[in-house]
Amino acid sequence: MRSIFHIDMDAFFVSVEELYDPSLKGKPVVVGGKGTERGVVSAASYAARKFGVHSAMPLRTAAKLCPQAIFVDGHRDRYELYSKKVREVLETFTPKFEMASIDEAYLDMTGTERLHGPPLAAAHKLHEAIRAATGLNNSIGCSTARLVSKVASDQAKPNGVLWIPPGQEAAFLAPLDIRKIPGVGKVSERHLADIGIYKVGDLARLDDRFLTERFGKLGLALAGKAKGFDTGAWFEKEMAAGDDPKSISHEHTFHVDTADQALLESTLAHLSEKAGRRLREHRLHARTVQIKFRYSDFSTFTRAQSLDHATLLDTEIFRTARDLFLRNWEGRKPIRLIGVHVSGFAEAEGQLDLLDGGKSERLKKVFHAADALRDKFGDGSVNLAGALKGRFRERVHDALTKKPE
Ligand SMILES: [Mg+2]
Repeated sequence: MRSIFHIDMDAFFVSVEELYDPSLKGKPVVVGGKGTERGVVSAASYAARKFGVHSAMPLRTAAKLCPQAIFVDGHRDRYELYSKKVREVLETFTPKFEMASIDEAYLDMTGTERLHGPPLAAAHKLHEAIRAATGLNNSIGCSTARLVSKVASDQAKPNGVLWIPPGQEAAFLAPLDIRKIPGVGKVSERHLADIGIYKVGDLARLDDRFLTERFGKLGLALAGKAKGFDTGAWFEKEMAAGDDPKSISHEHTFHVDTADQALLESTLAHLSEKAGRRLREHRLHARTVQIKFRYSDFSTFTRAQSLDHATLLDTEIFRTARDLFLRNWEGRKPIRLIGVHVSGFAEAEGQLDLLDGGKSERLKKVFHAADALRDKFGDGSVNLAGALKGRFRERVHDALTKKPE
């Protein structure tokens, strides 16, 4: 079960300014410049927000709405300093985290229970640690999904912690206004109001097909989000995928959900090949192969298997991924998305060869040669079927090879 935290600093810019000038505390404060200047509000204290002042509003409008507000200049260097302090605390909790902006971050706390305790206990620990390191209030949302945790941290404000237990995601979201869903802006809100949709629960009850017809891809992503799933490009990203990868993953979303085993296997082959190629680019071997698959109803599963040796071979990644998939593909139900993910990296040059008397070494040379050709002539130029005597490439459809993800 995934455990994802979203932490968001409360009124960050204003709170940092208060650290430098404690007399501002509790007062209506507007950061961004003087009330007579052109330009916009970059942040407003909770006391100023009560008058309707919000960020991105012209400073002059803010001055009209709240004449008693104290206007202060912003200090980027101060915010960056405190953002760094927050980051340093996060690092002590898990290596898997990602700053989403200067004052918010996602943490993947999956598997940290022994170290930090259950989600709510861990969140309180984190909340206190950040307060101790920065003197700043913050709010934390915890759940199995990024999106739900983000909404939860917002609901937890100010200075609170909110945990949505597994299975409660949709029920938590249902009574909220649809604007609370990240990605639903004014325009979507208006379109949804046109069909009588105001609450997340209203949206979740709608038929997927209807939403797709009416709003296209966006509608489908919305339907998933309303049910508490991480859908839509950004939310599906792997956590903490930096330059030096801790994991490599490739996914494919089908235009039409499919239960065609040959197509699914060929897609896995294609994705395995891409993963293998990235491993070779980074000169890494992976010890763990994981697959991800999503059914038509958005329910999503991941299954992982550790190999007895680290590998960078497409064939080994594919064999493991296919076995995992076939063992876990429940009722041959149609699949919306499928992905291959490799992790547990080692720079174990040479170790494979000891195991199989040079066979791997020959295969590696074939793969490196193929990679070089692809670099020169593009992705579709090399079909490994010839080199590998069709060990799995025979199932790869041409159309798929030419049109990755
Ligand atoms: Mg914030």
